[in-house]
Amino acid sequence: GELAKLPDIEPSLVQVTKTDSPKQVPPPSSLVFGHTFTDHMLTVPWQMLEGWGTPKIQPFSNLSLPPSATVFHYAHCLFEGLKAYRDTNGKVTLFRPDMNMKRMNNTAHRVAMPGFNGDAMVELMKQLVRLDKHWIPDQPGYSLYIRPTMIGTQPALGIAPPKEVLLFVICSPVGPYYPQGFKPVALYGTTEYVRAAPGGIGAYKLGANYAAGVAAQKAAAAKGYVQNLWLHGPDHHITEVGTMNAFVVFKQADGTTELVTPPLDGMILPGVTRDSVLTLAKEHAAGHINVPELTNKLVVSERPVTMGEVKEAARKGNLVEFFGTGTAAVISPVDRIGYLGEDVQIPTGPDGMGPVSRPLWKHLTGIQTGAIPHPWAVEV
Ligand code: PMP
Repeated sequence: GELAKLPDIEPSLVQVTKTDSPKQVPPPSSLVFGHTFTDHMLTVPWQMLEGWGTPKIQPFSNLSLPPSATVFHYAHCLFEGLKAYRDTNGKVTLFRPDMNMKRMNNTAHRVAMPGFNGDAMVELMKQLVRLDKHWIPDQPGYSLYIRPTMIGTQPALGIAPPKEVLLFVICSPVGPYYPQGFKPVALYGTTEYVRAAPGGIGAYKLGANYAAGVAAQKAAAAKGYVQNLWLHGPDHHITEVGTMNAFVVFKQADGTTELVTPPLDGMILPGVTRDSVLTLAKEHAAGHINVPELTNKLVVSERPVTMGEVKEAARKGNLVEFFGTGTAAVISPVDRIGYLGEDVQIPTGPDGMGPVSRPLWKHLTGIQTGAIPHPWAVEV
């Protein structure tokens, strides 16, 4: 016979249990990224034969899982990261949450874990954020980092799609990534480690990707660099910067400025910030919007770019800037890349940023904080 369609996530069924012992909201200046969590969390269980169960908003608390749960053995763990911002009028918004839910579904699919209705999850996250919105510090640069996570909870060994899963969301108030203004970072162009390979899992936000990067990050730090620049293949194609997408800006012979990021070839995480920077830059280049102070002679390219090209451009004085993009820092300028035993120097402006990243950062953070009205900012 025909299988009945199993229930998807249903926000109208949510059960809300408020904490009877709210925590003291700490002073913003004491916040360390990802160390403080709000009073509540959201959980939604899934079972193979029953589909998605009742969503619950409940007090932040420990999970209880048997040691046989698949997450502890086979890395059935994937997550997302997005932010809620409080604007100057006190309005709270999520930045492009639909993009994160789309990516979370793609990641789940890659490891044979269940998909879900992204709009339903956005609705539930809005409810969670509304309940804990007093945790968003009322100061510029501060926000609430939202961490949706999916784990395999089936208590059975054996490598297979987990028959039981838990989706949960926790929230952490965070401060500005660069409290004292932009601080450009030094990268180590690693030829010892790889982050991703064709057909692998690099394009997905799986916990396993991050565990695998830590030893490489430690090795880069021991050499005096902040993060790895992940390269791929014999030509040392640039892929990503630590846990950010990579952008390079070249001065072209015809007087134009080229903003380049590598294409989504299956080895690159499709960053929401990457997409936002590309969209704004392309709309500006096409004359559809005006990003103040950004050159009009802008060419925006998603194309492969190698370390050799960057090094050669630096030598000829055609390298304008190099930066990473991600939810945590938005834009992170780079001033130096260690590569095959020497340092490639990257120009940075007096404030640490460059002529392309500065206006784009200003415009994007303007949208995120409500100074520039835009449909990407979704009110909770
Ligand atoms: N690449 C990797 C490997 C990441 O972990 C992240 C952070 N999610 C990014 C890029 C940037 O993505 P986003 O702009 O969506 O934060």
